[in-house]
Amino acid sequence: MKYEAVIGLEIHVQLNAATKLFCDCPNRPGDEPNRNICPVCLWLPGVFPQLSREALEKGVLACLALNCVIQPESAFDQKVYYYPDLPKGYQLSQHHKPLARNGWVDIVAADGQVKRLRIHHVHLEEDVAKLLHETEGRTPISLVDFNRAGTPLIEIVSEPDMRDPHDAMEYIKALRDQLRYTGSAECSLEQGTLRVDANVSLRPLGSKALNTKVEIKNMNAIRNVGDAIAYEITRQTECLEKGEPIVMHTRLWDPEKKVTTPMRAKFEGPCVPDPSVARIVIDDAWLEAVRQRLPEMPAHKAARFMDAYALTAEEAAAVSAERDLSEFFEAVVAHALPPRKVAGWIAGQLFSALKERNRSVGETRLTAARFAELLNLVEREVINTQAAREVLIRLLDSDAPLEEIVEKGGFRQISDTTDLEALVQRVLADHPADVQDFRNGNPKVLGFLMGQAMKTSQGKANPKLLKEMLAKRLG
Ligand SMILES: [Zn+2]
Repeated sequence: MKYEAVIGLEIHVQLNAATKLFCDCPNRPGDEPNRNICPVCLWLPGVFPQLSREALEKGVLACLALNCVIQPESAFDQKVYYYPDLPKGYQLSQHHKPLARNGWVDIVAADGQVKRLRIHHVHLEEDVAKLLHETEGRTPISLVDFNRAGTPLIEIVSEPDMRDPHDAMEYIKALRDQLRYTGSAECSLEQGTLRVDANVSLRPLGSKALNTKVEIKNMNAIRNVGDAIAYEITRQTECLEKGEPIVMHTRLWDPEKKVTTPMRAKFEGPCVPDPSVARIVIDDAWLEAVRQRLPEMPAHKAARFMDAYALTAEEAAAVSAERDLSEFFEAVVAHALPPRKVAGWIAGQLFSALKERNRSVGETRLTAARFAELLNLVEREVINTQAAREVLIRLLDSDAPLEEIVEKGGFRQISDTTDLEALVQRVLADHPADVQDFRNGNPKVLGFLMGQAMKTSQGKANPKLLKEMLAKRLG
């Protein structure tokens, strides 16, 4: 029998509000343990949690970015469970009356078609404390760090609209890009500011039934989410083919072994309305004021870039995925440079240079004007592409005049034909066997000799001229 996967994701996103959700403690979970605490977030008896206005605003902004309908009234419930990361015995969450409902994001599915994936609802909740288990050396102990306790989260619950790992990974990317644009969340799976639980079930192809699902946790990269879902689909298919029933339970993804293993069930109690936090009532005027702060969203921006700058869909998507880079792109293009060339440099060289250093463009010394100046040097063939990559790295940390960086670093391109001719002669003399090989009809040797010549020039030869001269000499 042919099966179809039914996948839904529950995604927790940390809001980057300055304080925790119900007290004024700093929202900085990474600080020295138990620094950012007070009676409210230590969950001592007799305290009165007060909702942070900033967290609410950032939550609403996030919901609007996901095309959700903000509910005029929402309220907190006590989600009852007992575990040492939650000593008060319940988590403040919104179960019965969530902040927002009925959202969606668009993705490009594996077949190349645009697919709309629906969001069932988004609710606010407080995060729990962090447990640190020390198992080595002496009697195993567990320590509790309350810095994270009470920090603001939104949980985004999708409809089970995804059908394969590709859908799920694209959904997370789309959601992440949208939320980052609003400036309300960092959304990094690697750093735990975005956490994904995947629900996976199977059904016979063509059926509309929703069968017993299995939940998968512990995926800390988008790639892992795809791998874990793919593994789970295979595992469930094998179960069904053997006639074994699927049992509802939670499994942990092991990124090393690339398997999921069953996890001990955690007791989950009821959700009862909380009497201590005031309900949230949102009026139209306030909502409109928040909506005004929503920036142009990535999909809209990508469409505009294709239209205004004649970028391809891929180029437009690449330069609009991150808000600061998309603004940087427009600022560079304003210096009268060819937009597609600028897009290529930003999506390629600049993007990977920043990623390697884990910095945003705003955290570097690089300005749009300086980047434009650099690309101009390439356009005018003062330096070649290879040298420009090196210079770009230096511009991330330097304010020195560009000319000075080029001269001092010896980046200026060799376009002098006498110099290039000498270079060609030298390379040919050093590789007589290869030259013979080429003359015997192996055209691939040209690439090799070209590489040798570029290497000999320390990457500074004008590649266009060099290739011409090399070909002429060989032919
Ligand atoms: Zn506190």
